Amino acid sequence: MSEERSAPRLFAVLGDPVDHSLSPALFNAGFRALGLEAIYVSIRVGSPSDAVGVMRSLARAGGGGNVTVPHKRRAAAAVERPSPAVQATGACNVFYWDEGLCGDNTDVKGFRVAAEQLLGASLGGRSVLLLGAGGAARAVLHACHQAGAERVQVLNRTPEHAEAMVTELDADSMAEVVRHRGGLAREYDLIVNATSLGLRDSDPLPLEPAGVDASALMDLVYSSESTAWVRQARELGMVAEDGRRMLVEQAAAAFELWFQREAPREAMRDAVGLGGPGTA
Ligand code: NAP
Repeated sequence: MSEERSAPRLFAVLGDPVDHSLSPALFNAGFRALGLEAIYVSIRVGSPSDAVGVMRSLARAGGGGNVTVPHKRRAAAAVERPSPAVQATGACNVFYWDEGLCGDNTDVKGFRVAAEQLLGASLGGRSVLLLGAGGAARAVLHACHQAGAERVQVLNRTPEHAEAMVTELDADSMAEVVRHRGGLAREYDLIVNATSLGLRDSDPLPLEPAGVDASALMDLVYSSESTAWVRQARELGMVAEDGRRMLVEQAAAAFELWFQREAPREAMRDAVGLGGPGTA
């Protein structure tokens, strides 16, 4: 007798590159931990309009997924029901269907939780150096703004993108764009790499850590063995970690949107090589 089974819900991370992504391992571990009929895969999509088409197909079929580099801004413009975080940042990293294509930005919460664990304190009143002005940087800037950071300096390859980001996020009172390294402050509470530098082995470091004093350094780029930037910062005695803690936190928030139940954080942390609760 053949047993009727409902088709598993299909989720995917869409981006280019996606080979490095730990999201399939992370989410599939979460699905297994709760015995959910769901599968998570990575799909390399270069064209922004293809990415939007795949978002719609997956979501309509009862699944959903994540959007990564370089499509977060295009995804934000495409969703029919953007969350307040998408509206504030102009970037979307999570999608699903609920009376239309819904988008959220769980990078905001994921960054804040991870940064505050790393600092051992709130982002409120802190001074931050933010490298980058793409989708992830927008989440970082918004989280800092919401938390009441004292000052955020932004350094980006294309300063005009950083200026547009600060204006669009209405963060002029707190954030300042620095056009070159000479304009940096002497010290920060936190330096964040939100550029895509570090994704490829041949990439230069996003910023030479020597000569910039910071209590902590966080690379949003991640790998199962940490990143070259984090390793170099640690050699200089700095507290530094890659983006896996943020990855787990933003993923847990996405999981809770899709399944309306608490995410199995411990299984998700284990899947990306992080130890017990809250460790790096
Ligand atoms: P994005 O929107 O494509 O933005 C890329 C950023 O990197 C822009 O600021 C861009 O500068 C800069 N950049 C690109 N190539 C560069 C180069 N050769 N030299 C200097 N700067 C360069 O990407 P995103 O979505 O923000 O993602 C950025 C990174 O964060 C990715 O590595 C992603 O995996 C990571 N991330 C991690 C997490 C996590 O949970 N850990 C979450 C989100 C993102 P221009 O403005 O000059 O183009």
